[in-house]
Amino acid sequence: MKRPYTMAINKKLLKIDLASGKTSTVPIDKEYKQFIGGAGMAARILYPVLNNRVDPLSPANPLLFMAGALAGTLAPNFGRHVICARSPLTSIWGESNCGGSWGAELKLAGWDGVLLLGASKDWVHVVIKDGDVQILDAKPLVGKRVTETEHAIKEAVGEKKLKISSIGPAGEHLVKYAAVLSDEGRAAGRTGMGAVMGSKKVKAISVIGSKKPQLADPAKFNEAKQQLQQEIKDNFTLNMFSDLGNAGYVDMASVTGDLSFKYFTKGEWDGAYDISGASMKESILKKQYFCKQCIVGCGRIVEVAEGKYKTPGPVHGPEYETIGAFGATLLCKDLRAISKANYLCNELGIDTISGGISIGFAYYLQEKGVLPPEKADGLTLTWGDMDPAIELIEKISMRKGIGNVLAEGTIGIARHFGVSEEEAAAVYGMEVPFHDARAYVGSALEYATSHRGACHQSAQYYLTSMGAPFPDWGITPIDRFEHEGVAECVARLQDMRGVFQSLSLCNFVVPSSATLLADLFSSATGVPMTREELILAGERIWTIRRLINLNLGYSPVNEKLPKILLKPLEGGTNGIVPNLEKQISEWYAYRGWDRATGNPPVAKIEALGLSGLAPVF
Ligand code: SF4
Repeated sequence: MKRPYTMAINKKLLKIDLASGKTSTVPIDKEYKQFIGGAGMAARILYPVLNNRVDPLSPANPLLFMAGALAGTLAPNFGRHVICARSPLTSIWGESNCGGSWGAELKLAGWDGVLLLGASKDWVHVVIKDGDVQILDAKPLVGKRVTETEHAIKEAVGEKKLKISSIGPAGEHLVKYAAVLSDEGRAAGRTGMGAVMGSKKVKAISVIGSKKPQLADPAKFNEAKQQLQQEIKDNFTLNMFSDLGNAGYVDMASVTGDLSFKYFTKGEWDGAYDISGASMKESILKKQYFCKQCIVGCGRIVEVAEGKYKTPGPVHGPEYETIGAFGATLLCKDLRAISKANYLCNELGIDTISGGISIGFAYYLQEKGVLPPEKADGLTLTWGDMDPAIELIEKISMRKGIGNVLAEGTIGIARHFGVSEEEAAAVYGMEVPFHDARAYVGSALEYATSHRGACHQSAQYYLTSMGAPFPDWGITPIDRFEHEGVAECVARLQDMRGVFQSLSLCNFVVPSSATLLADLFSSATGVPMTREELILAGERIWTIRRLINLNLGYSPVNEKLPKILLKPLEGGTNGIVPNLEKQISEWYAYRGWDRATGNPPVAKIEALGLSGLAPVF
């Protein structure tokens, strides 16, 4: 039977009031031109309702799942979705980007987003089959790990093709950096959206759609799609990611110092090759994994067949950031052990970056004598030994013993032990990813001014500095140790990445022009969009996220890196440290925003159409 059609964007949200169990439709038929979809539209929808009185783990915090504008179409590598709310980890804007297939499926069910309001009295899971929405008892699912949860829901609903976003025990126990998982291992890891979902007592949202997108201009869409497909096929980095996964970057990162070691205190280590994508390919790799609409397939499916790190069969393998968190941070050279840690984090619902760094901080504190084994549930934390880390992952997910302290993240750990927060590897409360600002100095500015704490996806400065220009956005690569021009470059990248995150483009793909993206968007959705309008939308999306943060109590006082990330290192960084103050001053000057308050000027807010935005729901 021919499937019914839906539009590439559905222009409506599914609203679920968890206290009453009532569902309704919220039309969002305007403002796609201004906010595009995905992250931009999520910010627009939540901006009028988020303020500093909203406790992140209270029923007052709305949780929004939003598919990107081009998710559900055949546009290559655009199949992602975001999950947004006030973050329990940072207390500012929480936004977590996820691959897999859930977002595309939501679009094919006829929705652009799912908005969870309030909190349920008892545990529930939501099943969406096109317009039919059921809120079902999830008590039998409580305590289950992610894969077990997915299997149980598919069995109970009798639908093997359901796409499921769920939390593990970490989300149930409100671990500050709990993730939301889909497709048995694709994580919306950052900013603790799993804890917000847990606070609402929602174990899972499952979706299946029977529609397919109707494109506004199929011929123009196909032309733009084919151009982008060709660009992806011709891209050296993406070919390398296809072959080795993004862990293929481990070797180069260790040489340049982008990847530092031993909880960010060492610039050199002899174990990088052992934990690289090439080593993975030679040992435990079973096959590639492709997110929906992806033609690259950087995902790895691995299997550890025997020994104490044995996996229960082929499972999602560790990516570059996870290898940084559990390999480089803990000095563990064993890819099988890292794969086991990754598998456990996915199953228990833990962000591997924040989780790995929190555990690394515990190793660091034990070496300093602050956290002796008797205060760490008897665990001896020896660099290179993954076994206690594996125990800690389980303890964190249940908030058991020392796990209850580590579940708070590095700032919480520092406060608990009375250690200086300058030793916590976090910016605005979120643990830093593995792109060291001593190797690419503009990364310092990227982290300090990001909308969600230490985020490497808000500008991907290291990628540009390595030689990826974006002429349409006026972006040219700058030498990695050079400070001149960094402020403008980072600001332009931030605006551009906001567009990518709203279209739901994979972070690794960099189209050659804004015109190409505007053509894809307008031909798919029927919403007219020029290159200039798309570029302006990027600035609007960056600015509205700052306005949200100001409403949430954001202060430029916190725009800094902790001292542990600013100590000169040996190795590829050549002892360089970023001059962050210079970068920040120039960034505010370039944006024309007030350095003392962090505010954009009223005239800019009005020019971007951001004043007096009415509530959407
Ligand atoms: S390149 Fe990797 S992260 Fe990006 S869409 Fe493909 S599989 Fe997913």
